[in-house]
Amino acid sequence: MGMYDTVNFTCPECTGPIEIQSKARDWADCSHFDESEVPLEIAAGLEKQAVLCDNCQVYLRVKLLGAATIPCQLVDGRRDDVQHPDE
Ligand SMILES: [Zn+2]
Repeated sequence: MGMYDTVNFTCPECTGPIEIQSKARDWADCSHFDESEVPLEIAAGLEKQAVLCDNCQVYLRVKLLGAATIPCQLVDGRRDDVQHPDE
């Protein structure tokens, strides 16, 4: 309860750090994962999640790649018709 993992992404616009919390794992233990090493189950849980870069204010979303080397990455969220966060 209240436990979550954190995935560290890199903003594709400004290369600044972005952290996204995941509760995909029942046994989440506050681990920190780099986007290049995040377990697929967590990556899947983050798919299409929207996030706003604090640094450059660009709207991004998580794209699930499913590749072993790069499970997921942040992409420009304005190009896709995904739901925007609550305004
Ligand atoms: Zn940014």
